Amino acid sequence: MLKLIKNGEVFSPDFLGKKDVLLAAGKIAHIADNIDVSTNFAPVEVIDATGKYVVPGFIDSHVHILGGGGEGGYKTRTPEIRLTDITTAGVTTVVGCLGTDGITRSMKSLLAKARGLEEEGVSTFIYTGSYQVPVRTITGTIEDDLILIDKIIGVGEIAMSDHRSSQPTVQDFAKIAGAARVGGILSGKAGVVNLHLGDGKRMLNFLEEIINTTEIPYSQFVPTHIGRNKDLFEKGIEYARKGGYVDFTTSTTKEFLEEGEVKCSKALKILLQSGVSPKNITFTSDGQGSLPLFDEKGNLKGLTVGSCSSLFPEVRDAHFQESIDLSTALRTITSNPADILKLSSKGYIREGRDADIVLLDKKDLYIDSVIALGKTMVRNGEILVKGTFI
Ligand code: ZN
Repeated sequence: MLKLIKNGEVFSPDFLGKKDVLLAAGKIAHIADNIDVSTNFAPVEVIDATGKYVVPGFIDSHVHILGGGGEGGYKTRTPEIRLTDITTAGVTTVVGCLGTDGITRSMKSLLAKARGLEEEGVSTFIYTGSYQVPVRTITGTIEDDLILIDKIIGVGEIAMSDHRSSQPTVQDFAKIAGAARVGGILSGKAGVVNLHLGDGKRMLNFLEEIINTTEIPYSQFVPTHIGRNKDLFEKGIEYARKGGYVDFTTSTTKEFLEEGEVKCSKALKILLQSGVSPKNITFTSDGQGSLPLFDEKGNLKGLTVGSCSSLFPEVRDAHFQESIDLSTALRTITSNPADILKLSSKGYIREGRDADIVLLDKKDLYIDSVIALGKTMVRNGEILVKGTFI
């Protein structure tokens, strides 16, 4: 069946103005000022997008789809994600990862979960590994995982500068990056290393050292949680100004923000004012990850769970509260992750790309409808497609 989205204002994420968008066979088939499809030609569903913005489906490139945590004992292992946790957030592509626990949660389970979500209707990719070094892969090596397993697009999330890391040396990180680079080159994938940055004092030092002393470029690394404290944020600005990618975590708590975490929408504003390329900045939700609160002695004080639903509100806040144009704000969860992670069919409203589309209400940017691979998952805020277990 064809779908025709009529009379919406399209952000590709660049603003294209009022356009009609034709979807066919899960792809964006045509974009033009006015498209009419004869019903004699094929059945066509017309979606009236008057008063709506038509934007690319969101990419959430750091989600603990299998659940995460366990940092307060077994009962604090967080639950697996469900399809509708993803789709109701406007997300049509997720990149799944393990976290602190790479022991009771395995890469094989992560791969199966990613495949399950894809069967239910969204697009999925995964990183190989967890916080731990040496990296536990599926096949035995990072290169083999990247080259032989389609869904694996990089390594991560490896913990750096954190009390929960394996305390790897700078050489350990360089070797991981080297393996990811070669695996990426040979498979035509990004082969990035997704790095979890903790609250430690070393911050981005290891990364700077690898980039300064080896041939591995900035583009090999996607460090995340860069807004978690003011010092790391300052370092992140310097790092990004030199060409590095920086990723910000939208799931947070009142306590984290009070303790100095930089809100994503504000971080975006400051980075742009500091001259960082808008193409180097991404937001991810850390969905289903645990948000543990430790005291100064490292004891667990409390724990909540991250959510994909935190992703888009930061884009909305960036637009309304920080006066950032919608196109630039949208990049952080659409074209930027698509480009950085080399997801060549994602991230843009462009002919030939996957038909992943979100309709936003123009007035308050409320998520009205979500289309994943041409299928309407959410319509007028109502869930049309449920996952196997909702
Ligand atoms: Zn993390």
